[in-house]
Amino acid sequence: MGLTGIQIFKLLPKTNCGECGVPTCLAFAMNLASGKAELEKCPYVSEEAKEKLNTESAPPIRPLMIGPVKVGGETVLFRHEKTFVNPPGFAVLVSTGEDDASIAGKIERFKKSQYDRVGLKLKADMFAIKDTTGDGAKMCAIAKSVSSETGAALIFISDSVDVLTMAVDSFKEKKPLLHAATPANVEALGNLAKAANCPVAVKGDGSLDSVVALTEKLTALGVKDIVIDTGSRELKKAFEEQVTIRRAALKDRYRPLGFPTLIMANEMADGLMEEALVAATFVAKYGAVIVLSDIQPHVIFPLLLDRLNIYTDPQRPMTAEQGIYPINNPDENSPVLVTCNFSLTYFIVSGEIESSRVPSWLCVQDTEGLSVMTAWAAGKFSGESVGTFINKCGIKDKVKHKNLIIPGYAAGISGELEEELGAGWSILVGPREASQIPKFLKNWKA
Ligand code: SF4
Repeated sequence: MGLTGIQIFKLLPKTNCGECGVPTCLAFAMNLASGKAELEKCPYVSEEAKEKLNTESAPPIRPLMIGPVKVGGETVLFRHEKTFVNPPGFAVLVSTGEDDASIAGKIERFKKSQYDRVGLKLKADMFAIKDTTGDGAKMCAIAKSVSSETGAALIFISDSVDVLTMAVDSFKEKKPLLHAATPANVEALGNLAKAANCPVAVKGDGSLDSVVALTEKLTALGVKDIVIDTGSRELKKAFEEQVTIRRAALKDRYRPLGFPTLIMANEMADGLMEEALVAATFVAKYGAVIVLSDIQPHVIFPLLLDRLNIYTDPQRPMTAEQGIYPINNPDENSPVLVTCNFSLTYFIVSGEIESSRVPSWLCVQDTEGLSVMTAWAAGKFSGESVGTFINKCGIKDKVKHKNLIIPGYAAGISGELEEELGAGWSILVGPREASQIPKFLKNWKA
């Protein structure tokens, strides 16, 4: 078991200087105890305390970087407890035995499979390059073209430490993941990973005991950034292992299993559609890197959405920033619309306005991420609050007319809003459905 917040507090300097980002040493201690902070944030801990705390206060699942992709660092079993923090990286597999056209096709599809969604760019993250021919030079050539064309993070997969050494010599600044340490090569690969400061994956024989033996050995060598591949390729068993690993790391603070995990979905399914189902299973529980045999829009898009949903904080709706958004180059005669700042609402409404091609001003009011109807019901999108926002946001200086379009679902606030805005203002009730906005705007006259 880890130390309690009070036990940790006793080892801190107790000066309450606030440099760690929270106002008191006690608050910092509590954050350390719950895995929400890292000890490095306090510059004043004594070496002796550091040694004790480093062991006891590290996050239950070590966060680590594979190139630019952060994985691990999770602190809860279920997303409704708090949130999952670092979404799993999706990797596309290419092998040294694959022909150039096939590899080029995967690179092309990887580049094209990028989607804008609620203001975020959704895309796959990594290439896993597998040595099937013992050809280190080919592995490096593939990594070079993958890297220059996509900027993706890299995973090197080989049984041969010599091949992995060649890859590391050329790409260590990209912090690739080296796969995999086994009983036969753990010492050599551990030393290679440590010298190059690269993360390394262990590959078990399908038992968690074999995984523990490998992670303990790497830890003893001084390797910190470890990823677990249990070696299981059967869905039910792999699923059970993921749950066991997460529980052991979080509930029992069992360090040898406190690392992010890797799922070879490509080796657990027949065909890409089945792979997608396997991958979706481990997006929810609890893969940190998921390897697919190919990337196709109909497979990767639903997976990216799945990942977005699972890794969105369920207690904090996604929001757009409060403010005035000019769409289609509006001027002083352009219509003014107001809506809430629930991210999905903002993106749907702004998208419909854009597609109408009618120059417009969209005023987005902070409703704490609630949708129009919910915000209205909660009193956060009332005549008074919308009126106060419109009066202060600066839209009155941008237009010379006095018309405001409100969402159809908020029709009930129009009287109060008119009063709030003062003489001369007219409230127009817009459509209930965003899809009707283009038609509505085309008929609009100030
Ligand atoms: S930086 Fe260290 S000494 Fe300062 S408040 Fe935080 S824990 Fe205390």
